[in-house]
Amino acid sequence: MTGIWKEEPYKAAKIICLCGVAILVLLVINIFIKSPSSEAGSPPPEQTRTLPASLYEITAYCPCELCCGEYADSLTASGELAEGFLVAAPSEIPFGTLLRIPGYNNGDPVPVLDRGGIIKGNRLDVFFQSHQEALNWGRQTLKVERLEKRLDK
Ligand SMILES: [Zn+2]
Repeated sequence: MTGIWKEEPYKAAKIICLCGVAILVLLVINIFIKSPSSEAGSPPPEQTRTLPASLYEITAYCPCELCCGEYADSLTASGELAEGFLVAAPSEIPFGTLLRIPGYNNGDPVPVLDRGGIIKGNRLDVFFQSHQEALNWGRQTLKVERLEKRLDK
């Protein structure tokens, strides 16, 4: 035996004991720091949280008679004005639901505000102001994310 063990066994034991206490304190502090943050921090904020993405066949429309026939006006089925970025979805998806559709509104969430006779199952219709833009969109099959948060009214 050399060093501290030989010369000052009592001091050595005290140091080891203090180390043990310090480690315990650190562990306890760690648990206290970690538990609230892992509950509040790990799930992303509500605005960005999404349900599992699913594939939708997405067509496009505008307010013209070609696209809307007798419903050609500036109102959507939800009663909201047809302007900006909005989606017509099957009735399983409530009005105000926010969807993230790649390539539409820069991939930012858009609200479901409209319905359509042929919009059933995994089908969506994205709104454009002009018929040409709707034609440019064509028909695409894309992965759509549905946000848990709904449109604020
Ligand atoms: Zn049109």
